Amino acid sequence: APVVIAIDGPSGSGKSSVSRAVATHFGFGYLDTGAMYRAVTLWCLRQGIDLTDAGAVVAAAKDLPLGLGADPQDPTVELDGDDIAEAIRTSEVSAEVSKVATNLGVRAVLQEQQRDLIAIIADDFGGVVAEGRDITTVVAPDADVRILLTASEEARLARRSTQLHGTADAATVAATHDEVVRRDRDDSTVSQFTVAADGVVLLDTSALDFDGSVAAVIGIVEH
Ligand code: C5P
Repeated sequence: APVVIAIDGPSGSGKSSVSRAVATHFGFGYLDTGAMYRAVTLWCLRQGIDLTDAGAVVAAAKDLPLGLGADPQDPTVELDGDDIAEAIRTSEVSAEVSKVATNLGVRAVLQEQQRDLIAIIADDFGGVVAEGRDITTVVAPDADVRILLTASEEARLARRSTQLHGTADAATVAATHDEVVRRDRDDSTVSQFTVAADGVVLLDTSALDFDGSVAAVIGIVEH
């Protein structure tokens, strides 16, 4: 049977890059569920849909013309045929995405879509690595492998700073602080990710570099 690997973690835990490398290692497909929340946010911003209008945002999530590529080495994100891989990572979208992610109607819609996508991708590739905030607990609690990636706030800030701005000097880390810490606080109202749920393996990557984190996850999968 196809293998389902679920990986959750906060921003800066290394979740996306590690998940993609692990999927590549096993020849599995990849699903970035955060990209779906970001795409709904971008769509609403572009369409002028008020993010606090819960019903309108749910309707947008249902009908979103979203295309996600499952190749972990080229995870394309398209909206209505447009490449939005970069547009969904802007600070504008990052600043607003928690409003969409705390909409429980949106969560129900996207979680259902994610369950379908996990089954399809797993079938296509023989396995899937799906990552997000609630994959180990809500979307795929029956996954074969469930991992919660954590890292100290300091390590996560340094990683996000490097990711977003190419440097982790003190001033840049300080500027990143607001985005990361505020988003985690807002997100934590719907999903917590500091304590692993029952049966979920907790992996603290604070002291690991990228290769070390990938090797540790592969080790857990092969265990
Ligand atoms: O993983 P990433 O930082 O791209 O996720 C963007 C946002 O999407 C998160 O800050 C969170 O608000 C939301 N999200 C979520 N549940 C998921 C994945 C992402 O609420 N499974």
